[in-house]
Amino acid sequence: MRPEILFPAFAPLTTLPGIGSRTAKLLEKLAGGRVADLYWHLPSGLIDRRFAPKIADAPAGRIATITLRIDRHQPAQHPRQPYRVYGSDESGTLTLVFFHAREDWLRKSLPEGAVRVVSGLVEVFNGEPQMTHPDHIASAEEAAALQTIESVYPLTAGLHRKPLAKAIATALTRAPELPEWLDPAFRARNRWPAWKAALAAAHHPETDADVLPDARARARLAYDELLANQLALALVRRHQHQHSGRPLQGDGRCRAKAVAALPYRLTAGQETALREIAADLAAGGRMLRLLQGDVGSGKTVVAFLAMLIAVEAGAQAALMAPTEVLARQHYRNLEPLAAAAGVRLALLTGRDKGPGRSETLARLAGGEADIAIGTHALLESPVAFRDLALVVIDEQHRFGVHQRLMLSAKAASDKGGANVLVTTATPIPRTLALTTYGDMDVSRLTEKPPGRQPVDTRALPLERLPEVIEAVRRALAGGTRVYWVCPLVEESEAVDLAAAEDRFADLKQIFGDAVGLVHGRLKGPEKDRAIADFAGGAVRILVATTVIEVGVDVPEATVMVIEHAERFGLAQLHQLRGRIGRGGRPGTCLLLFSPPLGETAKARLKILRETDDGFRIAEEDLRLRGTGDLLGTRQSGFPVFRLADLAHHGALLEAASDDVRLILGRDPELKSERGRALRILLYLFERDGAVRYLRSG
Ligand code: ADP
Ligand code: MG
Repeated sequence: MRPEILFPAFAPLTTLPGIGSRTAKLLEKLAGGRVADLYWHLPSGLIDRRFAPKIADAPAGRIATITLRIDRHQPAQHPRQPYRVYGSDESGTLTLVFFHAREDWLRKSLPEGAVRVVSGLVEVFNGEPQMTHPDHIASAEEAAALQTIESVYPLTAGLHRKPLAKAIATALTRAPELPEWLDPAFRARNRWPAWKAALAAAHHPETDADVLPDARARARLAYDELLANQLALALVRRHQHQHSGRPLQGDGRCRAKAVAALPYRLTAGQETALREIAADLAAGGRMLRLLQGDVGSGKTVVAFLAMLIAVEAGAQAALMAPTEVLARQHYRNLEPLAAAAGVRLALLTGRDKGPGRSETLARLAGGEADIAIGTHALLESPVAFRDLALVVIDEQHRFGVHQRLMLSAKAASDKGGANVLVTTATPIPRTLALTTYGDMDVSRLTEKPPGRQPVDTRALPLERLPEVIEAVRRALAGGTRVYWVCPLVEESEAVDLAAAEDRFADLKQIFGDAVGLVHGRLKGPEKDRAIADFAGGAVRILVATTVIEVGVDVPEATVMVIEHAERFGLAQLHQLRGRIGRGGRPGTCLLLFSPPLGETAKARLKILRETDDGFRIAEEDLRLRGTGDLLGTRQSGFPVFRLADLAHHGALLEAASDDVRLILGRDPELKSERGRALRILLYLFERDGAVRYLRSG
């Protein structure tokens, strides 16, 4: 139950005086539907309106608040001309300029002969001072109220500055006084204000430095958010440990057969990761481990062998892939290994329907299938297991933490719930890993399997397309296969899809039936066919939207062309590029961009040319673009922070993580005074779920 003190913060926006349903809708679109969402909508800058000179002393290019007498209106002579209003003080004349203005409104707000205060940017036109569309027009009595520092907020179409500022001001005045959840000494050392004061200060910056992420008020609020995040994760994790599972000890018989059937030897890194996983499972403490390894580092076989441990111990395992294509590919690739190991696989995706599906469900529930491979269809309620002991989540960044917990909950709780292994090719920087998993155990595959070839990466402007086509022609003559990637940006899927279809048509003109097309709108079987044709060699140029991003494995492909590379996230480009250079021949990756490129975009493409180190790429991307965009999308499964910015607040995150360890060490059930305040913090940041793991207090 949410504490009463937070009721005003979680009330709908329409409970604020003066906010009608129309404004509330716009505010909701911009910030969120509840009062607290306005607390978190911080200014992006400020305008200092305290400068109130005489007209003659107002320099061009500066914001000024000027009191003047309105002398004369000069309506526009024809539509393209502006409407001008002339005003003056004893020092000179100022022209107020309005485009597309309504005359009746101007006559009412700026009546001839009256004294008015205007505030806005002063310009000089033909040697005369003027102000185009003043930001404020007020009566002379309101001059003092205007001469302040105004916070500038991010806006949305249809919502103007004034109603937004007013709504936020109202929300802030009604914000509750909350008990302090920070350690007093820590707060004092950082010289941070109390929560409500921090909120007020963050919304009323007085200098440009006050809107920077390390300003005291902002840092405090960011810390609060990170602390809530870390505390919630720690509570979930503790709960999992307390309800620890049974030890899973395999005898190695399935693993030995599967390894004998592999056409290669495991790398030392793969062996180490497997040992770590086996030790976790044997300890029975409910594993939560991240298996991190760059694209192509061979995570799948590690995950499979880990699942065999569960099977050897008499239980079941499940592997959840982010896409249908990938689930099927895993199933196809693992089937021979499973057969060799004497283990029964089942495939379950959203596409499997009817009697086949019922049969699969029955096999899982009855224990006739040992390992389930599927998509998020595995999460649906009719799916039940006889004894699920290990869940592998492949390419984690597509799933939220919530989904991870849902799948592990499919394990019978009397047996302690499932162990979880998360694999990811996204080299998650430590900061992001901390916010997503808390202190999760990590196994890393740092070396690639032998025989990997370097990929030569080049960036070219789009107008050099003819050269690219020639390069593709040479590659085909040399017997290799080519990926041609067109971006798919969700906002305009139709347009982007059309671009891919156009490119497909162009290339078909040149290369005929060697060209295939695959994109997200294709039905499942069509998608499979397109990829199978490419893998089999019937198609040698595959035009694709980013559906190929994750995991597709066609060793014969050595060339990748990526159009509009500037639109992709760096990590995403790195993953795409990881699809080539797998089959023992060097790869070539051509990044086509449409000029002009901004400085950041240039820097990003440069990093990609310089290094193949996924970790370095991810860290640089985080630095250049900020977390939200790291994976090319906000729906990345990583928490989205409203106040914290991991590119700037990494040190605060580490501090919050340490803080949480101390807090839970001293006051495990959050019952002390500070503990009770921390419960409020959890609710404030909507980590209600974590509170469930505390004894009520
Ligand atoms: P990812 O880590 O990106 O999921 P995969 O598991 O798909 O990588 O492996 C990529 C390719 O490397 C596959 O074709 C796989 O068979 C192969 N592979 C995995 N381990 C080894 C190894 N130890 N030696 C050689 N090839 C390997
Ligand atoms: Mg993979």
